[in-house]
Amino acid sequence: PRINPFVYNVSPSRVIFGSGSIKKLAAELQRQNLSSPLLLSTPQQVSQVEELSKQLNGKIAGIFSEATMHTPSHITEKALSYTDEVKADSVVSIGGGSTIGLGKAISIRTGMPHICIPTTYAGSEMTPILGETENGLKKTRSDAKILPGVVIYDVDLTMTLPTSMSATSGVNAIAHSVESLYSSTTNPIINLLAIESIKSLAVSLPIVVRDPADTLARTSAQYGAWLAGLCLGSVGMGLHHKLCHTLGGSFNMPHAETHTIVLPHAIAFNAPCIPEILKTLAQALPDSNGDAIAGLNILLESLRVERSLAAFGFKEEDIEKAAEIACANEYPNPRPIKKGPIQELIRRIWAGEPAM
Ligand code: NAD
Repeated sequence: PRINPFVYNVSPSRVIFGSGSIKKLAAELQRQNLSSPLLLSTPQQVSQVEELSKQLNGKIAGIFSEATMHTPSHITEKALSYTDEVKADSVVSIGGGSTIGLGKAISIRTGMPHICIPTTYAGSEMTPILGETENGLKKTRSDAKILPGVVIYDVDLTMTLPTSMSATSGVNAIAHSVESLYSSTTNPIINLLAIESIKSLAVSLPIVVRDPADTLARTSAQYGAWLAGLCLGSVGMGLHHKLCHTLGGSFNMPHAETHTIVLPHAIAFNAPCIPEILKTLAQALPDSNGDAIAGLNILLESLRVERSLAAFGFKEEDIEKAAEIACANEYPNPRPIKKGPIQELIRRIWAGEPAM
């Protein structure tokens, strides 16, 4: 095969993977000479963070369990005051992208080491990217220092992730891998990871949805999510992520659900410019019969996920504004972005019409 010139950066984070690996947190803290971690969670995951505190025999600086979506600055400020008060020397985030976002926000401001224990498939733990909201405006920045130093993937903590969230969070991960296949900064290594990730997720997610207690399937989904996160953190994303960022950041649409609705449409939009990549993608999707979009649709049907943005309260009159925001700045994408076709794409997403 033809190999184009590329730049490949190895992710400098340490990954500990496997059932029960959360028990290795104490040793990890010790390895880094850390003795008073601040544990972070959302209000919904307090029991998991309390369990973690017990495992550390209470040797923690404290628990801050007010992490919330979009990393709002007032929550970060509150967490920072608490960090000072309890004299924490490190931060441990246990949860999805929202909690990990707070961990990144604290770590980049204080320089404290950040250990992540992800419990969804969103992949934030593998990226040097942080999105924060101030006065309703979401701003994203990238800095190598934002990348968490250690990530512990323990499948046991994902067993409580509700099936609907498991499905959409898993498709969120697939979207990272799909866009890295046609990224302007992609490379052969990332392509391997992306394909392996899509295969793992596409096979395991339907099983997770049928039987959320299936540890093997959950492990395979988490493995795929890790690789997808690596892709997201390594190469630039395109139209799909831009649309989801616009719909989430400016119209408050839910993160994983939006990724799930948009993905087939973003692929269909780019399809005329990436025929070879679509063939490769189709091979990674079971039952695709060589048609990537058909394969993805079959997968989404089996996951019983919502297919229209209208179901989440997106208004028809906001379609044009969303198209304007999504087209405001130029960015690399296989097919050039023009407002007219993007507006039609968002209309189809809003209505829940098939991708074309
Ligand atoms: P989330 O972190 O908002 O979690 C959603 C809900 O599920 C929360 O209430 C959480 O407590 C709960 N939950 C999580 N894991 C659970 C489990 N195992 N059992 C029971 N409940 C559980 O959702 P998310 O999709 O992981 O993250 C979305 C956020 O992360 C968005 O703000 C997005 O922008 C950000 N994100 C950032 C990056 C990045 O690279 N910076 C990457 C992906 C996502």
